[in-house]
Amino acid sequence: MIKIILFYKFVEIENPEELKKSHMDFCKSLGIKGKVLLAKEGINGSISGTEDQIDQYMQELRKDSRFSDIEFKIEEGLIHPFDKMIVRVRKEIIRLGEEIDLKKAGKYVSPQEFLDSYNDKNMVIIDTRNDYESKVGKFKSAIIPPIGTFREFPQFIKGLNLPKDTKIFTYCTGGIRCEKASAYMIKEGFTNVSQLHGGIIKFCQTIPNTDVWEGQCFVFDNRLSSPIGQDKKQINNCIHCNTQSDLYRNCKIKTCNKLIFICNDCRKTMHACCSDVCMKKLLR
Ligand SMILES: [Zn+2]
Ligand SMILES: [Zn+2]
Repeated sequence: MIKIILFYKFVEIENPEELKKSHMDFCKSLGIKGKVLLAKEGINGSISGTEDQIDQYMQELRKDSRFSDIEFKIEEGLIHPFDKMIVRVRKEIIRLGEEIDLKKAGKYVSPQEFLDSYNDKNMVIIDTRNDYESKVGKFKSAIIPPIGTFREFPQFIKGLNLPKDTKIFTYCTGGIRCEKASAYMIKEGFTNVSQLHGGIIKFCQTIPNTDVWEGQCFVFDNRLSSPIGQDKKQINNCIHCNTQSDLYRNCKIKTCNKLIFICNDCRKTMHACCSDVCMKKLLR
């Protein structure tokens, strides 16, 4: 059994480069895999390991007073979804490229409050993720931005021209993007912005199998999509044979790399390629 955890915290880290070294040593000594980003504004990571390794990681990280109250979203798997351990220092732990005040972010709403709000006709739900993520699964009736990176989110919001008093609920995978997206909207003058606390993962684990969540959750590791404990009908179709399949994969040809929905049968017959053209390249 492998545990996969997702976490972030916005907290001042005076010397991220220094923390990078000790954190990398610590991760290597534990034998865990994954990716941790550090910046002066905080920490953002996803890692995997055995139950013992991950428990130890969480315990040790919380011993650092800066991270003592950090929240972990925990999933289980059968294999490591990461190939190696990476710790990097960045300017931002999630890149928006806008000056914002994170202390003025949207109001947290719990999964239950979020679900209850579905009766509210005035509620506008905005997905703050990228379009290739929302294709795998999304909340019913959410606005899906046609964006390829989070940096395009501000431009998208400007183009929506929503009244500034619109009742807005934002969501993302684990909550980190909503911190910035909601703070950005508040800076732009929106007065009623909430964010789903803990993101899709916490929601689906707390309230499994509601019909307001459709599909699977895109994740930034080798799995690409996670059913997060949901036992649901598949919402996508195989690019080749059109049978229902939520299996999301990059085309086997690296120069193509197109993200496609494919079924297990076609993965074999098409050698995991998106098209005949790519398969010919592979078999050449
Ligand atoms: Zn197929
Ligand atoms: Zn291809």
